[in-house]
Amino acid sequence: MKIGKIGERALINEIAALVAKTADKQSLGIGDDAALTKVSTDCWLVTSKDMLVQGVHFLLPEITAQDLGYKALAVNLSDLAAMGAKPRHAYVALALPPETETEFVLSFYQGMLELAEPFSVSISGGDLVASPGPVIVSITVQGEVPSKQALLRSGASAGDIICTTGPLGASAAGLLLLTHKIDCPPAVRAAALQAHHRPEPRIKEAIWLAESGVVTSAIDLSDGLLKDIREILEHSRCGALLEAEKIPLHPAAAEVGAAMGKPALELALNGGEDYELLCTVRAADFLELAKAYEARFSQPLYALGRISAESELKMITKEGKGEKIEFTGFQHF
Ligand SMILES: [Mg+2]
Repeated sequence: MKIGKIGERALINEIAALVAKTADKQSLGIGDDAALTKVSTDCWLVTSKDMLVQGVHFLLPEITAQDLGYKALAVNLSDLAAMGAKPRHAYVALALPPETETEFVLSFYQGMLELAEPFSVSISGGDLVASPGPVIVSITVQGEVPSKQALLRSGASAGDIICTTGPLGASAAGLLLLTHKIDCPPAVRAAALQAHHRPEPRIKEAIWLAESGVVTSAIDLSDGLLKDIREILEHSRCGALLEAEKIPLHPAAAEVGAAMGKPALELALNGGEDYELLCTVRAADFLELAKAYEARFSQPLYALGRISAESELKMITKEGKGEKIEFTGFQHF
């Protein structure tokens, strides 16, 4: 069967079943935002790998080499954030057509340094190979988290509050601006493109949330809220009730969405690449946590709904109706 037919999830499941015999019983392998390897009784080594392919994940020359370097590292660090981990190392593999300018490669690394330096990430190695066509970027990042603090997709339970660290939909708006001719104010265009090309990995917020001890599960928002929340629901074996009114929408999503006839909510639900954290918090601790979070980061922790005991994902619409929802978030195949 062609991979386009079997789909990403089923293919990952088949691979996971094949490699299960190699599993290290002390570790957590395929299935979360990153793998966990026990390196001592109280510390996990956290490893994640992400690949970006020209024409699939980014467009040249629409994105500069410097922004591409920044984004490639940002999306990897975001997966470490989803585990509550502190990043330590990055390994960078590039497949480049031989006619690529040296300047492009060095600018790419400059972009990575803009994130690596503030987050104390060492760029410790990698590989360079020739590509017959597209530019391909593959980065592996490693970090560490105290064993008791690791945030998994599997810890949510009924009653937990679902929350996110920022407004959604701006990155999808940025992609629409790159792929369509849309008239919009320069400030909106700049904000949307910034969100699309330079997402901020929520490392500091994630470590703080993990240290709180009341966050029960987490994932980073890479493929769209509806697709990503399903990962938490499937791993935690529960359902969720989202409230459309409470989903924070980025102003750029509203402006660009209006120009394209797409509601901002749709960009927030299915657009992807926001790289905010989506996490669940024990209900009894939520108000206190949200207050402390806002005091620490000068940004709200947005509550979007609750985990339910049913196995369905439902949303209360703006009209107050409860609706079962389907999703159309990013499918890799
Ligand atoms: Mg992720």
